Amino acid sequence: MKFSDLNLSNPLIRALKDKKYEKPTPIQSKVIPTILNNRDVIAAAQTGTGKTAAFVLPILSKLSDPKDNDKGRKMKALILTPTRELAAQIRESIDAYSKYLDIRSTAVYGGARIHNQQLKLKKGVDILVATPGRLLDLYRQKSVSFINIDFFVLDEADQMLDMGFINDIKTIMKLLPERRQNLMFTATFSDLFRSLVKEVANKPIEISVTSDNETGANIDHYVHPVDKARKAELLLNLIENENFSQALIFTKTKHGADRLQKRLEKLKITSKAIHGNKTQNNRMKALEAFKKNKIRMLVATDVAARGLDIKNMEQVINFDVPTVARDYVHRIGRTGRAGKKGKAITLVSADEFRLLQDIEKLLKQKIKRVEIPGFEPEQPLPVALNLPKKKHGKKGIFRKPKNNSNSNRSRSRNRSRSRRR
Ligand code: ADP
Ligand code: MG
Repeated sequence: MKFSDLNLSNPLIRALKDKKYEKPTPIQSKVIPTILNNRDVIAAAQTGTGKTAAFVLPILSKLSDPKDNDKGRKMKALILTPTRELAAQIRESIDAYSKYLDIRSTAVYGGARIHNQQLKLKKGVDILVATPGRLLDLYRQKSVSFINIDFFVLDEADQMLDMGFINDIKTIMKLLPERRQNLMFTATFSDLFRSLVKEVANKPIEISVTSDNETGANIDHYVHPVDKARKAELLLNLIENENFSQALIFTKTKHGADRLQKRLEKLKITSKAIHGNKTQNNRMKALEAFKKNKIRMLVATDVAARGLDIKNMEQVINFDVPTVARDYVHRIGRTGRAGKKGKAITLVSADEFRLLQDIEKLLKQKIKRVEIPGFEPEQPLPVALNLPKKKHGKKGIFRKPKNNSNSNRSRSRNRSRSRRR
């Protein structure tokens, strides 16, 4: 399938050419026609599969329809997203895709001055990207009106629910016009997500391209057993010997992130830390510096990093094993984006064995263990449990999409790659 088969307007096709996108990702080929068909959509696909463009492109296409002669900058699309960084990122994508269109958008989120956001809203926008809390503040101050909303998007819905935004979302929903198109995107269909769907969406088409326990087939991941006290030393050794050009490093705690970052800095390995205690400005700057290759290492906690799209990330390092198994999938999903190859390693000490086991259970797969000479642990990792056998099929990000919808059952060619390992 090509973008030109999707009935998107020409200015969009041109912008996609500029972005050097060759063809739609599986989730995009499923979701875009469904949205253009005016249906509500709930879609699950692993991170890095191009969900943003899957909703932004058809919305832009519809907003720029010449039949819709409304140049009044009426806010017609509302996109809710969990974090400030994601809001800014989606806004950037909208800008890029709409460069040949007369569309105005803005992003509002906490941690930045509300006054500036009010001014932008006053000038009028077509699309608003927002985090729930700040949006409600703006609403209470009468700086935003929802009466023209035609499109309501919940992006990274599972993360929003994890972060406790359920009540804010429900409050916002009640303020929206009844007649609207609801588009809900998530990495996984959790129970909480499904219960929210019932309240938000109207006979939605369900589209699923992957499940929670799938890691991309294009990601090589393995664990290095090591004693806890020697983790930092091993990390530095790996950075030196493996010559990572850049890596995203995850730690369990904010404090741990800072400590590690200071250690890297001491060794003249350029790095920054991002976590909840850093100011918004600080986090944005660190992310920019990393994206522009001005620093080599970005040390992050889970909340700070989930959903962030960092281009050309080849390497993810789990300095600590994530305490929530699902976060493993999210973390290593930072690499191998959009079909590129990625690598992820996890440093595991004996006390983290249970967490590792939880992950292996979730993935239904043992993760390869590689001991690094000189760092063999004195406290060895127990032998992994036998896991239920997994049927071997075609798996991974670009496997054949599974479309559970009742209608819209277009057959897509099987472009899947078989899983390596
Ligand atoms: P998700 O929301 O599913 O985690 P994103 O929307 O952040 O994924 O997209 C991940 C990356 O893939 C982004 O860098 C985006 O620019 C890129 N991308 C999206 N669609 C395509 C495409 N059709 N071809 C190539 N790259 C794409
Ligand atoms: Mg996303």
